[in-house]
Amino acid sequence: MSRIFSGIQPSGELHIGNYLGAVQNWVRLQEGREATYFCVVDLHALTGNYEVADLRRRRHEMAVSLLAAGLDPERCTLFFQSAVPQHTELAWIFNTVTPLGELERQTQYKDKSSRQESVITGLLTYPVLQAADILLYHATRVPVGEDQVQHLELSREISRRWNARFAPDMPFFPEPQPLLTPVRRLMGLDGQAKMSKSLGNTIGLLESREQIWEKLRPAMTDPARVRRTDPGNPEVCNIYSLHKAFSAPETQVMVADNCRGAKWGCIECKKVLAESMEEVLVPIRRRAAEITATPSYVTDVMEDGAQHARTTAQETMHQVYERMGLTD
Ligand code: ATP
Ligand code: MG
Repeated sequence: MSRIFSGIQPSGELHIGNYLGAVQNWVRLQEGREATYFCVVDLHALTGNYEVADLRRRRHEMAVSLLAAGLDPERCTLFFQSAVPQHTELAWIFNTVTPLGELERQTQYKDKSSRQESVITGLLTYPVLQAADILLYHATRVPVGEDQVQHLELSREISRRWNARFAPDMPFFPEPQPLLTPVRRLMGLDGQAKMSKSLGNTIGLLESREQIWEKLRPAMTDPARVRRTDPGNPEVCNIYSLHKAFSAPETQVMVADNCRGAKWGCIECKKVLAESMEEVLVPIRRRAAEITATPSYVTDVMEDGAQHARTTAQETMHQVYERMGLTD
């Protein structure tokens, strides 16, 4: 049976970019016929700067947010990456077939390493661990945001190289393909870079109405619209991209018309957006409150998920070791 895998780092709070670009698709895909594996990739999160106590809290909060967003442990396998040691085992194996040059030219590596004073190796080999995450479960489809498309291309290259050497007659690993949503790359509130947990330009999925408004109010809009009387261009406005994700189709038409005709100011436009966001976010916040009320629920769900994932992972590693000459 073909499988679906994806992951998210507990490097901060789950934000609306993660939700619209990836997690919303996870919720949809768990209803399908393919087995779905979703992972809080805590080992990946070690490649950023972090405090130990923060990571402990964020792992838990990420699990809560994913369940609140609609992941259902009856329909998908949800687990922490570090609870399944085969991820790092397979990553080492893949390190031995991955060309260094391919890693050095990854955009995420270039981007994130430029922000570190002393660049750690884990940042470079991040996509190798990602290939292991996916291929451990023989996943063929990977619901991600656009920023991960290049890493998936590398996963396919790693799969091909391993297969060519150790399973030349019949490929053992598949070649995983990305699955994108219409909101494949949401820009941050600064309008300068993609919304990222590590850049502080986010709106958290569980933030309150007041917190969201504090962030929306000063958020970047069409830079050419300086005065209220200047007509705007919704297509270059980050707030309009949020309307496309959160507002009803007729609201989107009204918003675009008011903007192009300078019939209203950006603040009025943002107020309508805040209302649309409430409709989507209120039930998610409610679920989060319910889940938080029983702390052991999350621990149990994650342990059950890990147990299930380990069964598949062990089987894959057994076959890998056999094909590579690592068994008697
Ligand atoms: P970090 O800054 O720590 O890398 P992140 O916000 O980029 O955090 P990740 O855990 O790296 O989040 O990615 C989780 C998923 O969310 C991935 O599938 C990624 O492609 C997707 N994603 C991240 N940011 C965006 C965005 N701005 N728009 C759409 N999808 C996104
Ligand atoms: Mg990221």
